[in-house]
Amino acid sequence: MDEATARAFLKALGSMPQGSRTAGDGRTHVLARCPLAPWRHEKAIDSKPSFSIAICEGKEAVASCFSCGFRGGLLPLLMSMETLHEHHPAKDWQFAAARQIACNEEEAAPPVLDPDADITPPKVGLAYPEEMRLAMDPAWHEDEVHPYLALRGVSAQTARLWDLRYDAKRMRIVTPIRDFGGTLMGLHGRAVHASNSLRWLAYEHPAQKGATNRHILLGEHKFTPHLPVLVVESVFDLLACFPIWPNVVSPTAATFPTSMMARFDGVQRVVTLFDNDKAGSAARKTFSKHLGNTCQHLMLPEGVKDAGEAKIQELENLLLTAIPAVKSLALLDEYS
Ligand SMILES: [Zn+2]
Repeated sequence: MDEATARAFLKALGSMPQGSRTAGDGRTHVLARCPLAPWRHEKAIDSKPSFSIAICEGKEAVASCFSCGFRGGLLPLLMSMETLHEHHPAKDWQFAAARQIACNEEEAAPPVLDPDADITPPKVGLAYPEEMRLAMDPAWHEDEVHPYLALRGVSAQTARLWDLRYDAKRMRIVTPIRDFGGTLMGLHGRAVHASNSLRWLAYEHPAQKGATNRHILLGEHKFTPHLPVLVVESVFDLLACFPIWPNVVSPTAATFPTSMMARFDGVQRVVTLFDNDKAGSAARKTFSKHLGNTCQHLMLPEGVKDAGEAKIQELENLLLTAIPAVKSLALLDEYS
């Protein structure tokens, strides 16, 4: 990313750039008022600019704020803002323009695992009230599923086993996220209408502004550590693989903070099935680095965008190459 693009990104988020400086590490820091200030700063403003976007040729741009402690890529920054905005609208930003820039950046320089990018320890381990989930109706009824789920090929059985819900107010299919112990740790919502530019929403904790449990994997309450654990990128990748191999988890985002990688401690074998793009290959590197040879990577056939779009037979054949026990009905029964 160059300086002009970083400036355009900041402007789209309503933050006028305040100059730049080049640090000893060769990165240029574009300084600005923190765009998260309306929610994360004490007086809702960042009067002495404490925010910067660090740019460097060939490396992903990193946003950080000395005041509120945010540190991460442009897409995570934007996602935080969009989530906060959804709950506490502050003003109108050009989210679409900012998203375009952030997505280009992710394509050009996929995120690398950066231990410092693990955002805010206080967010760890905050349980969500079950009432929040129960306020949404199940997204299935008997043999039928919500039309959006039908469109994505999700069966009523799968919808029931994952307790998929429909948030009528926000028009989202919502997946509850539970930790190893079964405690509700988050709700992840997919917009059902293409017109909603914020496709995914991590519901914030009702009692703590802006808080989500980013380190919890979707599916960890169901998984069995002594069997191969399949890791996929998105909720719909998970729902597609689940009927074939139910020991599957998803980080629900393309980034893997160190605290999330720690969730795999004690897992004997990990098989990944990430997208054939730069973000996917960065994810594969992260997993290999952390899990060494307990980790095996599967590649989707050429032209298949993600596991959620693959044909079921394609997926089954692919998973069989790494997990011979695929389609063990005894195992599926265990999950029913
Ligand atoms: Zn800040």
